[in-house]
Amino acid sequence: MFSISLELPEFIVVKQVFHKEYFHLYVVKKATEERCPFCGYMTGHVHDWRTRKVRDLKVLEKPLYLFVRVNRFRCFNCHEVFTQTFDSIHPNKHQTSRYRDYLYEQCLGSSIKSVSEKENVPYTTLERIFYSIAQEKEAEQLDELEQTLGEEDLVLSLDEVAVRKGHRYETVLMDAKTGRVLSMEQNRSYESTQLLLTKNVLSNTSVQTIVVDMWNPFHKAVHAVCFIFH
Ligand SMILES: [Zn+2]
Repeated sequence: MFSISLELPEFIVVKQVFHKEYFHLYVVKKATEERCPFCGYMTGHVHDWRTRKVRDLKVLEKPLYLFVRVNRFRCFNCHEVFTQTFDSIHPNKHQTSRYRDYLYEQCLGSSIKSVSEKENVPYTTLERIFYSIAQEKEAEQLDELEQTLGEEDLVLSLDEVAVRKGHRYETVLMDAKTGRVLSMEQNRSYESTQLLLTKNVLSNTSVQTIVVDMWNPFHKAVHAVCFIFH
């Protein structure tokens, strides 16, 4: 018998329904208890529950929908009611996190419009998903940037990279020793370079050297920013 391997270990599949155009899986969370977010006690007392329909990655080229049982627990200790949480689905979202990541990656390779049509996801929904994940990635990058900037004797390299075949360029700030990309801005203009450098980079005393190529706006921006911070 055909069976879908979900590969989301937190769930048990209780029912599978195969339609011609799509698949439905009914799932429940394995863990029957959850820690109260108000007082920290574990509780398994179900106050009520509902079903949330959640889109997941395609299976055999067909959309997969999960019907997730979402419990609300009532805490025995503090009597507050709270909603069950999931590792693979963010609160109140109608797509699994892995499907949202997949959509984001797809948009990077083409456009929101074409992915919306191909995946049959409304344009505005996809746009929201794309920008919310882009923001998360940027926050992660900033964390990394701060960590790198904490290192001593940092050598920065400022370079231009053609991101599309043709003439679109990005200004890229790299850790010259590791080659790690720290930040990017669109276009190789004076403004974009200055924007990159003012992301608290040159205010950090660990920066000893900046390597730049011969593209003039870089030099101009480096001088301008050094003037601000030094
Ligand atoms: Zn509680």
